[in-house]
Amino acid sequence: MRPPVLDPLFAPVSTLPGIGPKIAKLVNGLVGTQPDRDATVADLLFHIPQSLIDRRHRPGIAYSENGDTVTLDVTIGRHMPPPRHSKAPYKILAFDETGQISFVFFHPRRDWLEKTFPEGERRIVSGKVEWFNERPQMVHPDYSLRPEEAAEMPAIEPVYPLTAGLAAKTLQKAERAALEKVPQLPEWLDRAYHERTGWPDFRDALASLHAPQERSDIEPHSPAYQRLAYDELLASQLALALVRAHMRSLGGLARTPSGNLQQAVISALPFQLTGSQSQAIREINEDLARPVRMLRLLQGDVGAGKTVVALAALAQVIETGAQGALMAPTEILARQHYQSMLPLCEKAGIRLALMTGKDKQKDRRLRQEQIDAGEIDLVVGTHALFQGSVTFRNLGMVVVDEQHRFGVHQRLALSGKGQGVDVLVMTATPIPRTLVLTCFGDMDVSRLTDKPAGRKPIKTVSVSLDRLEEIIARVGAAIAEGQKVYWVCPLVEESEKIDLAAVEERHRVLERYLRRRISLVHGRMTADEKDAAMADFKSGATMVLVATTVIEVGVDVPDATIIVIEHAERFGLAQLHQLRGRVGRGDKPSSCVLLYKGPLGETAGARLGIMRETNDGFLIAEEDLKLRGGGEILGTRQSGTPGFRIARAEEHADLMEVARDDARLILETDPDLETPRGKALRCLLYLFGRDTAIRLLRAG
Ligand code: ADP
Ligand code: MG
Repeated sequence: MRPPVLDPLFAPVSTLPGIGPKIAKLVNGLVGTQPDRDATVADLLFHIPQSLIDRRHRPGIAYSENGDTVTLDVTIGRHMPPPRHSKAPYKILAFDETGQISFVFFHPRRDWLEKTFPEGERRIVSGKVEWFNERPQMVHPDYSLRPEEAAEMPAIEPVYPLTAGLAAKTLQKAERAALEKVPQLPEWLDRAYHERTGWPDFRDALASLHAPQERSDIEPHSPAYQRLAYDELLASQLALALVRAHMRSLGGLARTPSGNLQQAVISALPFQLTGSQSQAIREINEDLARPVRMLRLLQGDVGAGKTVVALAALAQVIETGAQGALMAPTEILARQHYQSMLPLCEKAGIRLALMTGKDKQKDRRLRQEQIDAGEIDLVVGTHALFQGSVTFRNLGMVVVDEQHRFGVHQRLALSGKGQGVDVLVMTATPIPRTLVLTCFGDMDVSRLTDKPAGRKPIKTVSVSLDRLEEIIARVGAAIAEGQKVYWVCPLVEESEKIDLAAVEERHRVLERYLRRRISLVHGRMTADEKDAAMADFKSGATMVLVATTVIEVGVDVPDATIIVIEHAERFGLAQLHQLRGRVGRGDKPSSCVLLYKGPLGETAGARLGIMRETNDGFLIAEEDLKLRGGGEILGTRQSGTPGFRIARAEEHADLMEVARDDARLILETDPDLETPRGKALRCLLYLFGRDTAIRLLRAG
């Protein structure tokens, strides 16, 4: 149960003065974490100001610079109302000893203006100055106060990220009211660490961010900001550690088969395993042999050959008589995994089945019966499917192909579908260590660091869209030599329709120029249509595949050697690297053409530069982190680090390491969170919405 001391923080925002149902809705959209319930006071407080306005800045009218927010001590002069029925603004002149300014109002409420700016009286006015025809003006000042009321104006005002329809002042007021509600909470920080850092306590930290005194107060490295970032990171690390400890406590099975089935899979491969593939398989076998559950992350750049490792791992478990499941993020990928595994499974004698959301009810039921009867060893399907109704007779291992979507907390839930289920998570994004920690917590990691032998690096060039015809001609020449080409059109965020039109148009243009049939794949097609198009391209019936980014993850056509990425400037680095990884999978030299529409912004230019310079996914991920921050790497749109409201991967990486060690130590010394600090930590978990982990405690 939630500690009652937290109640004020979990009150809905609508209980705050000035927040009615309409505003509450806007606030929910801005700071809420769950669409089906009101945002809480805590949600509001975790919405941190992005900058501040310093109203102590009083340069005088003549010395106010264009664009500055200033506070002026003025005498109100003449009112200049516009003629009746005119749309012109209402102007009020005012002056101080340095000069004259006009206050400008659109859609004026005259009686209010006359009352607020009485001619001949002194007023303290604050707002943004703009110079127009060499004269200063202030459009809709933020404040106009009598000198004796001047103290009512905050000297420093936090500026929050807003949403359409929500006024800055409304949000500020709500934040101030929320701050009043913060109770004194028990301290959950380790005492020695708290003393060493000198951080404020939780309540003071919030106060320092929402009522800042100096610009430095709201910077990510201020003590207050660090404190809250650490709190959030600790909550997440502790929750992950609890999940992990819980999984381990459920007990795993020591799986020590002869290894014959695994060997049969490996022998069926038309190639030699790379050193790091063999190493990863060894690490997995060791995990499996121990009577604890495996929780391992298999990390490797695109094309590194993770699928084979996964199948070898599954074979080891299947040999013991248990079943395996492989979850892919999309239908296309599930089908592809199925197709690439099928010949190997047939040779090794593993009974493989594919299940997708598009299956007919009847087929689904039949499959389920076969699984129940133990007639199927390995099921490949989508995440959504496995989270749904599928059950197993004896599930032993789950492989989660995350590619670069994340949500490992939920995925782990699936391991409840069997006894002692071992889990292997594959990620294609070569995420840096800090982000591994953020997203997966303290998992064991195997890394595929070497590429399969004979792979040639991919030559990457960037070319302006002005040279489209030239590129098409070159593509034509390449196909004539028997090369296969991907042509990727970008996702236009605003409109799926425009997006579709663009990719269809490109398909038409290419067919016309190249005078041959070309395959097309986009998100609006049915699974069968997509399959057919992919199959044509794979078999060589077509030599060019035009696609939206649906092909981005995992698609494997080893003899494709050219990829053209249109509007490359719109893609993030990680995504460009993923796309580029569609080629360079065979033994022929490959190339990647980044078609951009100029002029390039600074970041976009830097991204394309990095793409030209390196093929190293890990390096690219680090650069991406520098250029755009964690959220972008993981392909999410919101700024900041996914799953986090305060902590930012690029700013607080060092804190992440400390939080992980802290969490580990806590579970060693106080596994049920029973000590005073443990009880305080329960509050922390609730505060940051990680309380589901608490239910895993024995003394929940
Ligand atoms: P990813 O790590 O991106 O999932 P895949 O598992 O899809 O990579 O493998 C990419 C391609 O490389 C596949 O065609 C696969 O058959 C091939 N492959 C995997 N391992 C090796 C290897 N050791 N030698 C040669 N080719 C390999
Ligand atoms: Mg793959």
